[in-house]
Amino acid sequence: MQSRIYFDHSATTPLDPRVLAAMGPFLGGAFGNPSSLHYEGRLAREAVETARAQVAALIGAEPDEIIFTASGTEADNLALIGAVRASGKPGHVVTSAIEHAAILETCRFLAASGTKITHLPVDGDGIVGPEGLLRALQSNATVVSIMAASNVVGTLQPIEELAHLTKLHGVLFHTDAVQAAGKIPLDVNCLNVDLLSLSAHKLHGPKGIGALYVRKGVCLSPIVFGGGQERGLRSATENVAGIVGFGAAAAIAGEELASEAARLAGFRELIAAELTRTLPNSYLFGHPSKRLPGHLSFGFRGQEREVGKLLLALDRAGVAVSAGSACSAHHSGEPSGVLLAMGYDSERARGLLRVSLGRFNTQQEVDRFLEILPRAVAALNGGARQSLPLQSVEVSAVAPA
Ligand code: PLP
Repeated sequence: MQSRIYFDHSATTPLDPRVLAAMGPFLGGAFGNPSSLHYEGRLAREAVETARAQVAALIGAEPDEIIFTASGTEADNLALIGAVRASGKPGHVVTSAIEHAAILETCRFLAASGTKITHLPVDGDGIVGPEGLLRALQSNATVVSIMAASNVVGTLQPIEELAHLTKLHGVLFHTDAVQAAGKIPLDVNCLNVDLLSLSAHKLHGPKGIGALYVRKGVCLSPIVFGGGQERGLRSATENVAGIVGFGAAAAIAGEELASEAARLAGFRELIAAELTRTLPNSYLFGHPSKRLPGHLSFGFRGQEREVGKLLLALDRAGVAVSAGSACSAHHSGEPSGVLLAMGYDSERARGLLRVSLGRFNTQQEVDRFLEILPRAVAALNGGARQSLPLQSVEVSAVAPA
């Protein structure tokens, strides 16, 4: 049996063995609590501070501007709820219509207690324009939050420009960089952002550990209360092994960023070109060039409702891809809110297949995928079932999505 092909790195990434090796001691003998004053505690503290410096270096921040959290989701919650609470007013959050649920649901929570929420529109490529932002900034915003890269369509936002406009109005700027970090260069000072969310498991680090960059001087209220760890912004005994893994993952991602971005963008372009050639009814979502290096999402004209079946057929053929974001996978069949916001009709917005590549993907895997995909699409049309030379694929056995 051939090994499986994992093309769903926007959902999560496999742990890099070098990261696992760095974490090893902290899952075993080095079990101290970083707040303890004895040797075991000091050892853990030193490891946490080394990792803090590594994570900070990935985004051009100072180590003491990094607050470790339990996830990217928690970092997003802390950024928005923390900024609104620190303002002492119900406040006004300006965000985009295509954010991750970690932002959209936090906004919904804040709205229930009186915070005004403005969702900025995006264009057909998924890009937030400056006009809507300028209009929203006229009515006393507390914080603007725009994601650096879309988890669904891979489009990159003009963060530097949007942050610049926001700062001219004296308003805080947050970016959810969970998908972008480690894949494109990010420097908090060049971008001029105040708050930036990260998550280790998107860059070949462990799950359950995230971070929020908080620019010096920015005032946030905590959302978790207790022993006052992480400068009082995130109480709880630190997840030392997770933090160490995050640090190692950030250091590796930083070192390999340029070469990996070029390699993955090459695969992406090859897949896009081959799709256009072999599947004339396919079309790409998102901006053609302002996008994450290893990220493609596409639809199939006339087969929008079959994407769920296609995903399962590919899975049976040994290829893991996704239909939209992992978080929405349980609602598949529903039109994607992101695609609706980008102006697609509800039919087109149902049919998104996402391919997201990562560090351990190879040219051979890309070649094999390019053989498998057109056959899987053809099989959906009722032809070519037997032409799938796959891990016992039986497309007809797949329940309709
Ligand atoms: N923000 C974006 C853009 C994401 O893609 C994700 C995860 O998919 C998150 C936030 C949440 O991160 P985590 O899984 O660490 O909670």
